[in-house]
Amino acid sequence: MIADGSKKPIRIRFAPSPTGPLHIGSARTTLFNWLFAKQHNGRFILRVDDTDTERSKPEYEQNIIAGLKWLELNWDEGPDIGGSYGPYRQSERLDIYEKYLRRLLDENKAYYCFCSKEELEEERKAMLSQGLSPKYSGKCRNLSKEESGKQIERGDSSVIRFKTPPKEVEFNDLIRGKIKFDASLIGDIVIAKNLREPLYNFATPIDDFEMKITHIIRGEDHLPNTPKQILIQEAFNFNEIKYAHLPLILAPDRSKLSKRYLETSLNDYRLNGYLPETIVNFLALLGWHPEDDQEILNLQELIQKFNLKKIQKAGAIFNIEKLEWLNAQYIKKTDSVELAEKIKDFIPENWQTKKDLLVKTIEAEKERMKTLADFKELADFFFELPDYEPSILKWQEMENEKIAANLKLLRTELENIDGMNFNKDNLEKIIMPLTEVWGRGELLWPLRAALSGKRASPGPFEIMEILGEQETLKRLDTAITKLS
Ligand code: GLU
Repeated sequence: MIADGSKKPIRIRFAPSPTGPLHIGSARTTLFNWLFAKQHNGRFILRVDDTDTERSKPEYEQNIIAGLKWLELNWDEGPDIGGSYGPYRQSERLDIYEKYLRRLLDENKAYYCFCSKEELEEERKAMLSQGLSPKYSGKCRNLSKEESGKQIERGDSSVIRFKTPPKEVEFNDLIRGKIKFDASLIGDIVIAKNLREPLYNFATPIDDFEMKITHIIRGEDHLPNTPKQILIQEAFNFNEIKYAHLPLILAPDRSKLSKRYLETSLNDYRLNGYLPETIVNFLALLGWHPEDDQEILNLQELIQKFNLKKIQKAGAIFNIEKLEWLNAQYIKKTDSVELAEKIKDFIPENWQTKKDLLVKTIEAEKERMKTLADFKELADFFFELPDYEPSILKWQEMENEKIAANLKLLRTELENIDGMNFNKDNLEKIIMPLTEVWGRGELLWPLRAALSGKRASPGPFEIMEILGEQETLKRLDTAITKLS
């Protein structure tokens, strides 16, 4: 399909650097890219930006891929599945970059720079002291090819710099509108350490061109890189690419999102018991909202409603309470049999074998769960009665003897019920009339506490149905013994 009046099919990429686990902010960038690609029937490409060989690690690439799969943001081309424009890891594309680097050097649009770190630092300080914003002085810009050739042969250490043309770079950001940069302030940037070690701002426009990328959606933190990449594109006469820079995600105090406030790695949210549907929904609302203000949206609804052009420019606040609220909504909505599958990693193994009990327990507790991790503590008493203090059986000022007598009375009633009828409605019908004689709190509090061993739990009728007659009677006996 065609977007923005251009004839080219949409090709859009997500280009993470595998220098750490998938960041929650990068997950949002991927989602927005993915939604845009889906809306325009475009191709979504995963490219791994691993030019930083020291910091890039295969395990981070795996973590990124696993995280995106968990969110079900699938791609059409990528390092794991290949495609017509591969390889999809920058570390495997060095020949391509070398070819382009040579071209720039031949055309005199780039040059070798031999300035030492110390020299550069001095230059920087001098500029700062004159109140100028620091940039490279251009000292090696006019070295002849012979001179630099000799120095290279001698083994002098060098980098490759781009001859940044001193012009105004202007582009139309799909979110932020017209953006202008004065490139004369940038100076001649380093684009490669050598022919085999290109840097991000060089490798990226080359790949975007080679992979026929039409749109780049990325975080606003990349805004200073955009003019540099556009200038490289212009140096090669590459086609124009459309840009959209997403607002930053901020902590509640509007500071940069950092580990100090919140988990920043997507996987931590998974481990803390958030559902992928929640995360997708939450991330979509970080900087965007649908016109009708609908808050619960699945991927299909997001594809329908998402509008890149309606993304806000201001930073988006990460509100953890909203995330918890959303997760609780999704948990409530999820079928209990399905939740029993999803909850596996959060419960002891022996609970998993009691599938029937597990599903019933989830049904009883899911209203109270904010995360899957909450379940274990809420539901443990169903699987094993905790060793509780008899004091929790006490209703107001009741004497132990009286409590025990009430529990015995209840026991007699309960043991007369046919096992087949041991369900919530029937139990309620039998026991509620007794409370009119013996008192509601006086009967129901000790009963509920005896069943759960806890001060707070679901109501006694629901618990009894789940535990069944045998276990219910056993727990009443335990309570009666504790009181004597
Ligand atoms: N590799 C860059 C990063 O992880 C993103 C590159 C881009 O989108 O141009 O921040």
